[in-house]
Amino acid sequence: MAFSTAPVELKETLATDQFITALTESDIRIRIKQAHPKDLNEAIPLAVELDANNKAEKQSAVRIASKEQTLDQFRDLLSDLSKKVDSLQKKQYTPKRENKPQQRTCYYCKKPGHFKRNCIKYKRDKERNKERQHGS
Ligand SMILES: [Zn+2]
Repeated sequence: MAFSTAPVELKETLATDQFITALTESDIRIRIKQAHPKDLNEAIPLAVELDANNKAEKQSAVRIASKEQTLDQFRDLLSDLSKKVDSLQKKQYTPKRENKPQQRTCYYCKKPGHFKRNCIKYKRDKERNKERQHGS
């Protein structure tokens, strides 16, 4: 009569082992093996609990990851914005520099915006002088 319960226990142990092996999540499998459940009645609630914990951990991990992603995106956006602001400030700065050449004045007619070599009045006067020289 000593062997009568043995096959049942062996069957239970095999079923538990198969159940544990069947679990897809390896860390749950390891944790259940560490808990040493006597049979499926112990293994199943343990697996369910561990699975629930695992899913919760994964979800929070995903949430943290997505938060980090948003933060990274936000940082990228900020750096992009600061670059744009920088370029805008530079663009606003350049017209001031470009204004300077417009303030150049002609040495001949004293009018701003051109040099003597581009001066219409100077060229006209030069032509007139030539005509006068030819005429006299
Ligand atoms: Zn001029």
